[in-house]
Amino acid sequence: MHQLNAGTLLHAALDAAARGWHVFPLRPGSKQPALHGADRCRNTGDCSDGHRKWEQRATTDPRRIVPCWETGAANVAIATGPSGLVVVDLDVAKEKGSSGTPDGVTFFLALCERAGQPWPDTYTVRTPSGGMHLYFTAPPGTHLTNTAGKLAPLVDTRAWGGYVVAAGSLIDSAAYEVTAPWRVAELPAWLRGALAETPKSGAPSAIAPPRNASRRAQVALERERAAIEAAPEGKREETLFKAARSMGRFVAWGDIARHVVEEAFQVAGEAAGLKAYECRSTLRSALNWSIRTARPREAQ
Ligand SMILES: [Zn+2]
Repeated sequence: MHQLNAGTLLHAALDAAARGWHVFPLRPGSKQPALHGADRCRNTGDCSDGHRKWEQRATTDPRRIVPCWETGAANVAIATGPSGLVVVDLDVAKEKGSSGTPDGVTFFLALCERAGQPWPDTYTVRTPSGGMHLYFTAPPGTHLTNTAGKLAPLVDTRAWGGYVVAAGSLIDSAAYEVTAPWRVAELPAWLRGALAETPKSGAPSAIAPPRNASRRAQVALERERAAIEAAPEGKREETLFKAARSMGRFVAWGDIARHVVEEAFQVAGEAAGLKAYECRSTLRSALNWSIRTARPREAQ
């Protein structure tokens, strides 16, 4: 059986780094970053020139990795953006008992069939909850960011702004395991095309949302994202719900695209320790409610 073994996790971190993947520590047995947040920054070390978040602190340097893992049993995260990776994250449906409930694998298979493409042969990791991570290299010259449910239900992608838990990490003593040790394939053109498509706006707004979020919406998004990441246990779902509700009016006004809010908060919620499906359903219901009940801007 798997044991919480610091040596094994150090190995996992060094293995990932040897592949050129930028790693950072997660709290033992969890998916939450073990690094301090902006609110607790003391501007020392990595942060001497200002706070740096996990994406910037992730490293491939063994001299920085070894001290991080030799003292504890931190799980290993791979920051997908700097690693040049796009990881397709196939989640499982909430009710595990009912075998009829389609999961991310089923939806992704349907996506492949519709595109007339085979299931991609690439480095694959199975997650403890029964999900699957398909690793791809990001095509040169692209700057893809996270998506949540854009390709299909229960099919997310992690790129810039995201991370995945690396093989060898443990949740409730169940490991992330490599199930297909193939080399990492380049993101297939058909998937890249599907990710590049302009999303259909979820907002019932007559005005097309602007390409870039308004300054106020962007500031609000960052503030709410920080609140989600810093939420203590027992308050996380509530914080996520409130954050999504407060952003809904900006979506309704066309100040920010719904998928931008969903993708940012999905990652933040998971980083805070919520399950992927919990984040997804909380975000959906909070945004739906907020968009439906938003007042015109003048009335605010
Ligand atoms: Zn800092």
